[in-house]
Amino acid sequence: MSEYRPVDPRESPRFAGIKTFMRLPHIKTTKGVDIAIVGVPFDTGASYRVGARFGPEAIRSVSALLRHHNEVLDVSIFDHCSVVDYGDLPVNPGYIEDSYKMIEDGIQPILDGDVIPILLGGDHSVTLPELRAMAKKHGTVAIIHFDSHSDTGDKRFGRKFTHGTPFRRAVEEELIMVENSIQVGMRGSIYSRDSLNDARKLGFDLITTVEVQKQGIDTLIQRIHDRVGDVKAFVSFDIDFVDPAYAPGTGTPEVGGFTSSEALRIVRGLKGLNLIGFDLVEVLPQYDPSQITALLAANIVYEFMSLIALRKKLESAE
Ligand code: MN
Ligand code: MN
Repeated sequence: MSEYRPVDPRESPRFAGIKTFMRLPHIKTTKGVDIAIVGVPFDTGASYRVGARFGPEAIRSVSALLRHHNEVLDVSIFDHCSVVDYGDLPVNPGYIEDSYKMIEDGIQPILDGDVIPILLGGDHSVTLPELRAMAKKHGTVAIIHFDSHSDTGDKRFGRKFTHGTPFRRAVEEELIMVENSIQVGMRGSIYSRDSLNDARKLGFDLITTVEVQKQGIDTLIQRIHDRVGDVKAFVSFDIDFVDPAYAPGTGTPEVGGFTSSEALRIVRGLKGLNLIGFDLVEVLPQYDPSQITALLAANIVYEFMSLIALRKKLESAE
C-alpha cells in the first residue's frame, strides 16, 4: 500500500476539502514518493490569449472526479505508486528568464529525490526549463510532443523564449535526443511552406494530424515506439492537440483535430516506454466555461500516471 494516496470519495464527498490533484495530500516532500504533481502557473510566453497561469488550479478542481482504478489499462494506480500534490513552482509573472531559472531550480529537488514529475502548465514556454532540469538529472532525453503546433519557431517579437519556440531552443541547448524524438498532431494554417520542414531539419520526426487520420492510430503508436525505443522519454502534451470542440479552453486553438477519446487512446499507446516525466500545458480556464478542457486534461494526466503505475506493476510481477 502506497504511503501517499487520495482521499476515498466513497467516504468523503468530492466537493469537500481543499482542491489538490485527485485530492492527493499536498506535501512538499520526495521521501516515500514515486510521482509528484506540480503546477507551473506561468503564461508570459503566450503569443495570443493569456490565462494558462490558471490552468493548474482548474485541472486540480475537476480532477476530484477521478477514481483509483484504470479499467482499460487494468491498474490500480495507488497500489503501485505513492503520489503527492507538490503544489506550484514559484514564477515571476512578466519575466520569462527569471521564471525559467525558478522553474528549473524548483524541479531539481523533485528529480534529485528520484520522483517522476507530472507538471501542469502554464503555457508551452515552461517546457524549456523543465527540459533543462531533466537534462541535468538524466542527460539528454527523447521527447514525445503532442501539439497542433511544432513550437520550433526561432523568434517571436524579436525574442527567443516564447511558447512558440521551446523545442528549437531544446535542440540548440542539446537537452534532447532529437534522433529519438517525435512531434505529433501538427495542423492548421502555418507561416510558410517550410514551417514544418524546419522542425524536420532540426532532426525531429514529425507527423501531422492529417497523416494520423489517414494512417490510423495503431500505426502512429507503432511509429512512436519505433522512434523512441527504450531510451528515457519525456512527454509534452499541449491540450490544443485535441480539437477545440473537445478542448475549447486553450490559447491558440486549431480546428480539425482529435477527439478526446482518440487522445486518451494515443496516450495509453505509450504503454511500455521508459517515461521519466510529463507535462500538460495550455489549458485556459476562462475559455472553458463548462470545464471540459480541464476535465480532459485531468484525465490525460490520469492516463499518464496509470502508465507509470502499470510499468511498476509489471516489473514487480517479473
Ligand atoms: Mn505548444
Ligand atoms: Mn499548440
